[in-house]
Amino acid sequence: MKIESVGVLGAGTMGNGIAHVFARSGFKVMLCDVGQRFLDRALHTMDSNLEREVAKNKITAADKAAALERIVPTLDRSKLAECDFLIEAATEKFEIKSELFRDLDRICRPEVILASNTSSISITKLAAMTKRPEQVIGMHFFNPVPVMKLVEVIRGLATSDETLTSVRDLAVQLGKAPVEVNDAPGFVSNRVLMPLLNEAIYAVMEGVATPDAVDEVFKLGMAHPMGPLTLADFIGLDVCLDIMRVLQEGLGDPKYRPCPLLVKMVDAGWLGKKAGRGFYKY
Ligand code: NAD
Repeated sequence: MKIESVGVLGAGTMGNGIAHVFARSGFKVMLCDVGQRFLDRALHTMDSNLEREVAKNKITAADKAAALERIVPTLDRSKLAECDFLIEAATEKFEIKSELFRDLDRICRPEVILASNTSSISITKLAAMTKRPEQVIGMHFFNPVPVMKLVEVIRGLATSDETLTSVRDLAVQLGKAPVEVNDAPGFVSNRVLMPLLNEAIYAVMEGVATPDAVDEVFKLGMAHPMGPLTLADFIGLDVCLDIMRVLQEGLGDPKYRPCPLLVKMVDAGWLGKKAGRGFYKY
């Protein structure tokens, strides 16, 4: 089936980036959220991010206007029935996503693929909410979506080869690089990244080095663009803690135990950049 129109559920940080890249690549996009203020904020963000691309001569002003025209915001989920492909980027809560997948299965035509941008929830479990588990897949974009090249494509236990091929092709059409991984807690990205950040926090807690020193080691010695503590602050320490708990619960190995300093900082509300304070002050 030819995919021309795409439904995006959730217009937050990731949803607006995903809508942006689909619209910029010529797809019609229906962007759905639960409150008008979320849609208004997403339209504003997409406008300024596309403007930045115009300023950098990546696209023309006409491309920007055409991309924005292809995006239709809506609060009415039933309108997604028109779409040829669906990607869910709603809040990372299993209750929210399971309800959405059950309902999307009812709303969307039977041949439509239902993808999730989840960072940690099992694709196999989401697929089991539907009568089309072979057409459910993970399409994991990275923040900021218009900039980051990778799409981790996650195959659930029942995902078909056809679904996988369609989603890989779609990622390429967006100018992204798809990498296929199987469904497991944290997939590959967070399975490897989060223990690194957690270990860096242990190093700080145990007085091995200051946050600055740990970050310098990774920037200057490993050519990371930012150190692990700066990155943890950017991601949000609450998000890091949630993902460590998913790894700990899903894999059962004590090596995934969240660092007590991470737990303490989240308890204090020091959630990183978004809260004005984490390992650094903003
Ligand atoms: P966010 O909080 O910025 O946005 C989530 C949006 O979903 C909100 O606007 C909320 O109103 C909306 N929403 C909640 N319930 C909904 C529903 N039933 N229908 C439609 N919309 C609904 O969150 P985010 O950072 O954009 O994360 C979205 C998803 O992307 C999560 O699954 C997250 O794990 C994943 N993800 C996030 C990042 C990141 O760096 N932020 C990276 C990769 C993947």
